[in-house]
Amino acid sequence: MNIEDIRNLKKNEDVIDLRGWVDTIRHHGGLLFFELRDYDSKVQIVTDSPKEFDNIKNEFYISISGKLVKRQKENINSEEIYGDIEIELNSLDVISESKVLPFQIEDDIAVDEQIRLKHRYLDIRRKEIKNNINARSNTFKSIREVMNKLKIDEIDTPTLIKSTPEGAKDFIVPSRKSPGKFYALPQSPQMYKQLFMLSGLKNYYQIAKCYRDEDSRKDRQPEFTQLDIEISNGDPLIVQNIIEKTLKHVLKNVYAIEVKTPFNRLKYHDSINLYGTDKPDLRISNTIQDFTEIFINTEISFIKETISNKGTVRGFIINELFTRSKIDSLDEMLKEEGSQGLGWFKVENNDISGPLTKILNDDEITEISKNDNCTILFQAGKTNETAHYLDILRREIYEIENHNKYEFVWIDDFPYFEYDEGKLQPSHHPFTSPKDVNKFIKNPEKATALHYDLVLNGVELGSGSQRINNPKLQHDVLSKWGLSDHEINERFGWFIEALSYGSPQHAGFAVGIDRLIAEMLNAESIRDVIPFPKTQSGMDPLTDAPSSLTHEELMEYSLYIDGENDE
Ligand code: ASP
Repeated sequence: MNIEDIRNLKKNEDVIDLRGWVDTIRHHGGLLFFELRDYDSKVQIVTDSPKEFDNIKNEFYISISGKLVKRQKENINSEEIYGDIEIELNSLDVISESKVLPFQIEDDIAVDEQIRLKHRYLDIRRKEIKNNINARSNTFKSIREVMNKLKIDEIDTPTLIKSTPEGAKDFIVPSRKSPGKFYALPQSPQMYKQLFMLSGLKNYYQIAKCYRDEDSRKDRQPEFTQLDIEISNGDPLIVQNIIEKTLKHVLKNVYAIEVKTPFNRLKYHDSINLYGTDKPDLRISNTIQDFTEIFINTEISFIKETISNKGTVRGFIINELFTRSKIDSLDEMLKEEGSQGLGWFKVENNDISGPLTKILNDDEITEISKNDNCTILFQAGKTNETAHYLDILRREIYEIENHNKYEFVWIDDFPYFEYDEGKLQPSHHPFTSPKDVNKFIKNPEKATALHYDLVLNGVELGSGSQRINNPKLQHDVLSKWGLSDHEINERFGWFIEALSYGSPQHAGFAVGIDRLIAEMLNAESIRDVIPFPKTQSGMDPLTDAPSSLTHEELMEYSLYIDGENDE
């Protein structure tokens, strides 16, 4: 019997073989009380023979029999679903004992995350985490519901694949049968979902596991879950419309949140200019202001130099007089990020103060003192370099106006390529179609892509694009990226070949499901919504993976560890 079955019983009826874990135990006035907890409920058990049941301890898994009674009015606990009843205990069988627990099965416990993850099965018994896992399951159900409604077909793709570049490094898998050769785990099902479109399928979706062997980055997991979609004859608007419908349905049905569609839209360059980032949090309405004009004839040397190098002076006018120590700590914060330092003025009763005040010319004084009783903070430099600091500053100095708001925004018109650690990389992936093919061929570094991201409250929820469906263009893009004909052939020849037999236009998207759930539940980290997450360094404290293999085991795969196994 489960706790929820008790509702079908009448007062004084027998409860037989009710199973669960022993939760909080209390002795009170010669009585023993404890709560029995099962999958999602708790009920109070009481006995006036405490000695008889003295052997039970927290988290023993037991079966009890007894009698259902209504609680006295004054003893009703209205916070618990079964707080109006209790069970008078007749007999108790211990099905399985529990060792002393590494931490209590309670919410708000101050326990190191490493210990919680080492005993994740106990951690999931806690309501906090169990609720997250339930929300995850409901999110999956709801996604499947809406996909069925939209007549999008669920199809799976292999997970032992050929290495595909999507910006990160692959996890590789050796095989005993092919010494010296490796499969990769998919960074996403990208090429397979495109192959479905070339195979004549109308559409596709999958709740897919993806694997990226990235350097530890805050709140990333080496394996994560995406809602992956592809639509034959799709274009950005068709796909965005499907994603909007999907999120609207899931948010309403799982999280009781109504969102307005269509979502906001911003072009990449506008996003960078206004917010300093391509992941803007629109719950803060203040945007970056351009002060360059004010300083056009300046004598302030670093600003003069910035302007003569086609840079800008940009920042914020805040209607508040910041203290010196507040300005210093903002300056410190930006310097840690790599900024040259924070420029500032304060205007108090039309009087300007700040380290640069003495060098201001008359025009600058007139312009700056037009704003009274305020603090002006700015960064001077190349617009694309100062953007990052202004993004940090904006989020630090302004409050989120409404924490209950869900501000979705599509960002599009991304540059096709960007420089990442000095290397030219597609800003999405190399299967994305350029917006204007001729422009791309002439000047790939200036070209834009048919790529779109979806951002929610400053967090990137997903990306997608319209794809290349022309084998020659696919070859050209890979070559502009810097691959030789030999490399293109070796790594992508099979894919370019597949594009060569009549390919429909197609477009798709992938939503990061872990991040979506974490955002909706306001979880501190995506680890809180993943059943068995890895730590930030990619370790699993529960099983100790990744772990070493013996020399013999490695040899079965024709592998050895350089410097360790050479006897
Ligand atoms: N495969 C891409 C990703 O995982 C998404 C897409 O282009 O559909 O980011």
